[in-house]
Amino acid sequence: MPLIELKHISHSFGTPPDLAARLAIALRLAKPAPRVRAIDDVSLSVRKGEVVGLVGESGCGKSTLGRVVAGILPPTSGSVLWRGRDIKTLSPSEWREAKLRVQMIFQNPYASINPRRRAVDIVGEAPRVHRLIDGNFDAFVDEQFRRAGLDPALKRRFPHQFSGGQRQRIGIARALAVQPEFLVCDEAVAALDVSVQAQILNLFMDLRERLNLTYLFISHDLGVVEHISDRVAIMYLGRIVEEAPAEEIFARANHPYTQALLAEVPRIETTKRSFAAIKGELPSPLAPPSGCHFHPRCPHALPRCRTEAPRLKVVAAGHRSACHLNDFSG
Ligand code: SF4
Repeated sequence: MPLIELKHISHSFGTPPDLAARLAIALRLAKPAPRVRAIDDVSLSVRKGEVVGLVGESGCGKSTLGRVVAGILPPTSGSVLWRGRDIKTLSPSEWREAKLRVQMIFQNPYASINPRRRAVDIVGEAPRVHRLIDGNFDAFVDEQFRRAGLDPALKRRFPHQFSGGQRQRIGIARALAVQPEFLVCDEAVAALDVSVQAQILNLFMDLRERLNLTYLFISHDLGVVEHISDRVAIMYLGRIVEEAPAEEIFARANHPYTQALLAEVPRIETTKRSFAAIKGELPSPLAPPSGCHFHPRCPHALPRCRTEAPRLKVVAAGHRSACHLNDFSG
């Protein structure tokens, strides 16, 4: 059974029209306020112990999806299942428990931690409130610091007295302190230097082994998720366009968008630098292109691609892709 399952999740931003606004629109006295469909009918599951990489350009809806998974944002439609149960059917205490089990780690830890509080309080507050500390508070916090690779002797410092990598470790220690099972890492290494990125990625993988953690690892960079993911899902303008085991995505990417993203990943074995930037800009989610959202940038677009949205279809074992070209292959 998946630990988390998303079924036909959509999420829109913007205020839905009230009765008066609907009336004004019906009488053609007003235009509907624009609504951004950040997530469009996404289904995705993550099994216990699995690392799923969620990749796409910035603005494609992956962070919104991460917030839905973490229970921070309710979806506009669709269902989120936690251990096979729709979260809408959980009692308030079951919901609180489920929310604690899923923790989020953000790109900029400085923005998500209170700069006026000492690290010890940042890490220790939630477990104290939720009565998860069975014993000495300081010993508990020291243990969280050590797990995140931080020296407990630094715990009385303020966030600005740490480096960027150390601050991210404080964010990790804070998440670990409430004994999560599932971490949603939203661009968690994007703001760090390459060498620090590698250290934090190693820490995540080490914690996966030691604490049997499950991850949704969100990144704009396929290269970052390559070595840590079991499965990768590619997102474009609110839709998942391809999903496959990681080695399959890197060996046999099916979707033209995934192929374009892969062309941007630098490879040691590549003698020629072939960072062919994806043609054009990501269109505005306020007015996504009709049919296949990728058609204005796709080198293989067919007339049909402008009018008909391709559905995700199985193209190999465990591999799904949403592209009309698959209707012509084998
Ligand atoms: Fe390109 Fe058409 Fe496939 Fe979309 S459906 S990726 S536009 S070929």
